[in-house]
Amino acid sequence: MASKSRYGADTIVTPDAVRAPYERDPDRPRAFVCTCLTCREKQRVLFEAGRTRPWEHDSANASHVVEYRRIDR
Ligand SMILES: [Zn+2]
Repeated sequence: MASKSRYGADTIVTPDAVRAPYERDPDRPRAFVCTCLTCREKQRVLFEAGRTRPWEHDSANASHVVEYRRIDR
């Protein structure tokens, strides 16, 4: 039986979700593909547990629109 999860692997999350304090496994690093929609920069980033910083490109280019796509679940 197929079950519908709230968040699929293709879910695009916001930086707020990256920093979500409630994680089922809070000690596990979270892998994201970060894609800048403004200049098409793309990078796979591993967010360690407890990390509160966004992707470096995101913080360095505040006006750019960045998608965070989680790939580790
Ligand atoms: Zn950019």
